[in-house]
Amino acid sequence: MALLLTPTSGGAEAWRHALIAAMPDLDVRVWPDIGDPAAIDMAAMGPPPAGALRKLANLRLIISLTAGTDALLRDPDLSDVPVVRCGDPAGDTMMNETALLHVLRHHRHLPEYLAAQQRREWIKLPIKAARERKVGVMGLGPIGMAVAKVLFAAGFQVAGWVRNPRAGDGVEIFSGREQFAAFLKRSEIVVNLLPLTPETRGILNAQTFAALPAGAAIVNLGRGEHVVEADLIAALDSGHLAAATLDVFPVEPLPSDSPLWRHPKITVLPHVARRLVPMQLAPRVRDIITAFRAGRPLPQLVDRKRGY
Ligand code: NDP
Repeated sequence: MALLLTPTSGGAEAWRHALIAAMPDLDVRVWPDIGDPAAIDMAAMGPPPAGALRKLANLRLIISLTAGTDALLRDPDLSDVPVVRCGDPAGDTMMNETALLHVLRHHRHLPEYLAAQQRREWIKLPIKAARERKVGVMGLGPIGMAVAKVLFAAGFQVAGWVRNPRAGDGVEIFSGREQFAAFLKRSEIVVNLLPLTPETRGILNAQTFAALPAGAAIVNLGRGEHVVEADLIAALDSGHLAAATLDVFPVEPLPSDSPLWRHPKITVLPHVARRLVPMQLAPRVRDIITAFRAGRPLPQLVDRKRGY
């Protein structure tokens, strides 16, 4: 039997090389050269190319190489097979770096200073220590939790917002819709690391922004569809929000006529929060395949109903 690999961050050839290094006997078929589709019983993929899941009558397992499974779960050709994520449950160090970088930028008003430089204006904004700054992380999955811990270790007052209450290891936990307003009210910098689900689509909207303290900043590392673009622009233009950093967009690459490109308070990044490292993740893919073939429980199984 064979594994279908579709190109994703990290590069198809690097993934193929890493998978074969971890499992020398594995028959890896790289999309679109898949040979006989009937031979394929597993797939390892990020967002699937259109049609990649069609005609795979013997598919029994999908390993998501990316943390976000929203595009995969939306694929009209997706059958009722288990979907498993292969990311490190301890998070991703590049995502930690990215979150820390942008929280520090907003914490020390870098976007405002760069804009002032364009105007040749010598301005001084209030300087706070990290211990005086409240950061809120939306979503404490493997990546979100690691980010929250790194921000906590850097000295920030960190809170997280999740669905189900739990202990937070120094991170204050807010859960459910009931505690969303309280979470927002205390959060001066918000880092979004939610999965995209029907419940979280458009969650960064006018009501959410209005509940944040004046001068708050947004760092969106989740998905573009979390943001209601017109509401974000209005909140920035009114001065209620100070700045926003966006790494993800509903359409990527971001179309050249998007108003986000030219907005003075928005930093646009081309979905570069991290790079997947096939050599690090291939052993995790191997462990999933081994468990699957032995009929053992699969770790990090995506709950199709919940959407993550
Ligand atoms: P998950 O995608 O597994 O998200 C789970 C977290 O979100 C949990 O804490 C969960 O709460 C919380 N959550 C889900 N739905 C809700 C809701 N309705 N209300 C409140 N909390 C909710 O987490 P990861 O950390 O693995 O990944 C985070 C996301 O980051 C990915 O889904 C992906 O979209 C994005 N991402 C972006 C990248 C980029 O390059 N910019 C790279 C990697 C990931 P609970 O714990 O209670 O279940």
